[in-house]
Amino acid sequence: MDIDYKQHVLEALEGNEDFPAVTSVTTTKIIDMMEEVNARTPEVETDPETHARLAVSLHEIVGFDSVHPIHDITMNSEVLGCEISEPVADDRFNIETHPETPESILELEVPENFAEKGRFPLFKEYYDATYEKVGGEVAILGIVEGPTTAAGNLLGEEEFMKLFISKPDLTEDILDITTEAVIKGAKALKDFGYDSVEVADPTAAPPMVKPDDFHEKIQPHLKEIGNSLGNHDLLHICGPTDPIVEYMDECNFPALSVEEENTIEKTVEIADSAVCGNVSTTTTLFNGTSKEAYDEAVKALEAGVDIVAPACGIPEDCPKENLIAMVEAWEDFVSKEYSL
Ligand SMILES: [Zn+2]
Repeated sequence: MDIDYKQHVLEALEGNEDFPAVTSVTTTKIIDMMEEVNARTPEVETDPETHARLAVSLHEIVGFDSVHPIHDITMNSEVLGCEISEPVADDRFNIETHPETPESILELEVPENFAEKGRFPLFKEYYDATYEKVGGEVAILGIVEGPTTAAGNLLGEEEFMKLFISKPDLTEDILDITTEAVIKGAKALKDFGYDSVEVADPTAAPPMVKPDDFHEKIQPHLKEIGNSLGNHDLLHICGPTDPIVEYMDECNFPALSVEEENTIEKTVEIADSAVCGNVSTTTTLFNGTSKEAYDEAVKALEAGVDIVAPACGIPEDCPKENLIAMVEAWEDFVSKEYSL
């Protein structure tokens, strides 16, 4: 198939594509591919060329329409003071410390220049090394964690959720701080050249946050982020998002990314934003068969997604055959439905 991959994915992220795309809009660190292209820990996390080799393999070998060089969602929280785990092959970076208290967090200063903080300089190197391999031909997607997740990282999720219920005014002030950080982090990635940034906010997922609380307390912050970012950016929220899809759609991101617990047909119907999803990462891609991955991809395509994609970050142990089966499903679907 003769495709201008970059243009195709960027159009799909705006809902303007002639036919759907297939790619991952979330993290893609797969051990199968690490072995295949000899991009191993710790070099894969520290050496930009090795990192880029892994990112590009998801396009060149698996067949995804774009590449995704960033493999975790801790970067904004790290800039704000959280420590992160050491690199290991079969996991992404995780938050190790929750340095703030409900009293101290309000004193937190969000640094002006995210591009120079934490691992952001490394993300620029990841971008540059990836661009060197794909040129302008393939879109390069980035990711940052959202404001609720960053707040949970700084305070500890349980602590933040307690405040969320007991001290709503305080959580409002905390989310003001993390929202500012998310906007700065996402803009830094866009300034580096990333074609799209996904704001992933798993801590805002139902049932951790009730739909009414999401609408009242979190949506205004996500809307501020959506309004501050540009074209091709996404909002991802994990879990059973049916009750909040309308609110997610009102956040003014060009695209939404949803998981397998979401009723994708309904989401496509409700959302003005483009829709990406939702082949199960926790079951099908992780330990299902290739046939199951193929069938689930077809189901998402038949529902009308703009991008058929893994539902969330792809587990490190996901067999590459299951991702390739997604791409085969997409090839069969577009050749049948669009005569390509
Ligand atoms: Zn998710």
